[in-house]
Amino acid sequence: MKKIYFDHAATTPVDKRVFEKMVPYFTEIFGNANSQHAFGREAVSAVDEARDTIAKLINCKPSELYFTSGGTESDNWALRGVANAYKNKGNHIIISPIEHAAMLVTAKALEKQGFKVDYMKVDEYGFVDLEHLKSIMTDKTILVGCMLANNEVGTIEPIAEIAKIAHEYGALCFTDAVQAAGVLKIDVKELGVDLMSMSSHKIYGPKGVGALYIRNGVKVDSIITGGHQERTKRGGTTNVAGVVGFGEAFKIAVSEIDKNFEYVSGLRDHFIERVLKEVPYVKLNGPRENRLPANADFSFKYIEGESILFSLDLAGISVSSGSACSSGSLEPSHVLLALGVPEGLAHGSIRFSFGKHNTIEEVDYAVDVLRDSVKRLREMSPLFKIQGDIKNV
Ligand SMILES: *Cc1c(COP(=O)(O)O)cnc(C)c1O
Repeated sequence: MKKIYFDHAATTPVDKRVFEKMVPYFTEIFGNANSQHAFGREAVSAVDEARDTIAKLINCKPSELYFTSGGTESDNWALRGVANAYKNKGNHIIISPIEHAAMLVTAKALEKQGFKVDYMKVDEYGFVDLEHLKSIMTDKTILVGCMLANNEVGTIEPIAEIAKIAHEYGALCFTDAVQAAGVLKIDVKELGVDLMSMSSHKIYGPKGVGALYIRNGVKVDSIITGGHQERTKRGGTTNVAGVVGFGEAFKIAVSEIDKNFEYVSGLRDHFIERVLKEVPYVKLNGPRENRLPANADFSFKYIEGESILFSLDLAGISVSSGSACSSGSLEPSHVLLALGVPEGLAHGSIRFSFGKHNTIEEVDYAVDVLRDSVKRLREMSPLFKIQGDIKNV
């Protein structure tokens, strides 16, 4: 059976060029980047090269970029690090309600430590309400955190405006750019953010490596203490092969950014058009404009997302119901609920996220399978039998 992967927002395969570049760093060039001999120097120069590459591509100084174990650690570091470093200035943090769990759960943990967390409102497409943000800013607000692009519905947030508002009130602005870095053109100076998270495995790099941009002058307490790695801000022996892979993945992603955007959004648009035409009682979540190229998130009325996921899986098609992190739980997606999608409808949601290796044939096959599965599942759904003739989606 064909195996088709439509879950690129969860992770991506490592690009062969990235893999080739990493290989020597597992064997011949295995030195500890902290060692002061030839082996160490080789390792450190590879790490420096990756840091220079990424820094240049996001328009920051290499000294403003810190390697981490991925997006989750970067999000934790930004939130906890700023909270602790600025707690004498204030205890108020504002984030969006559609953040990744790495942010939401961390913010909850900070609440237990005495910080006050407020959530900015988002509209039905997931865009942050800037007027509402202004109305909840106070002189105790130390940090405003908002993702650059949402991993479920693809909404691209107005981060530059959010940063401006944060700064007017003397707060810092942090953005989780895990879904955006390497997919959209990013310039930290233009965005005006003070901190920014990135991850390698969402852009055809290896898992377990990412980075946090920290603007020079911004104070951030360490959360991983240890040796002198990362200018003594983040202890732990550097993941040299991972960092090399991340650097190469980022370089390739940016060099192909227009080509991939056009190709992947073409697949996505074809998919959306066919689904809207051929599958009844369906709602596309998120905006049509200002969205990531890869995501298409649909709610299917009268059926469970999990049932659709399993019938697609049986046909060899891998997708996600809600976010990968919340699947396995039967909670509907917090993102869809924040967008005002009714709970019943949110339960029937599936995220398709396309990638540069997918083909139009795969997309067409998936629509055929999806249309037939949805029809079959609805025929078995008692809810559909009672209400299905009333078209009110
Ligand atoms: C995947 C993801 C993360 C977590 O990154 P990891 O590198 O997997 O820890 C954080 N934020 C967003 C928006 C993501 O999509």
